[in-house]
Amino acid sequence: MPSHRGIIRILALGAVAFGALTLSACSYTEAAEPKRGNYLATQPDSGPSGGEIEDSLSVEDTHVPALARLDSALLTALQSAAADARASGVDMHVTSGWRSAAYQQRLFDEAVVKYGSVNEASKWVHTPSLSKHVSGQAVDIGPTDANDWLVRHGSDYGLCQTYSNEMWHFELATTPGGECPPQLSNPSDERAEG
Ligand SMILES: [Zn+2]
Repeated sequence: MPSHRGIIRILALGAVAFGALTLSACSYTEAAEPKRGNYLATQPDSGPSGGEIEDSLSVEDTHVPALARLDSALLTALQSAAADARASGVDMHVTSGWRSAAYQQRLFDEAVVKYGSVNEASKWVHTPSLSKHVSGQAVDIGPTDANDWLVRHGSDYGLCQTYSNEMWHFELATTPGGECPPQLSNPSDERAEG
């Protein structure tokens, strides 16, 4: 049977081991932080599988979830528009397409930090339940000359800029050659409408 001193020694060793474990757990988190993107990429519905796009995509990158999970009519319209834009010397890229609810929630949370309040954030980013990106019905386009081109010609393909403060955000909102609906000033208008 261990002496009192032996027991204290065992307890002390246990405490040191526990401390080391806790410390290593902390330093793992810190070490993982700079590689947040990679770390998240291993989580379900995050990284590319959650619709994140590293830089931008061509409209032909249809194997990538951000495009693969778009509404197919929207994707088809976008591909025709991009082909015609290209014929007139404008390269069109997709900077954001379908997003998982988890990814959209993260964007919203980041916007709350950036803009300082839920109200201000709502003028730029929808919550997952309202976002047309989550339902696969919206794309963000770049660069600026492609946005310009699509603002002018998008309705020929049924594509419309739906918020006046987001010249990069397009939805299939009319029939090809039809008229786009009046723009909302920002996403929070939609929220106000319910
Ligand atoms: Zn958008």
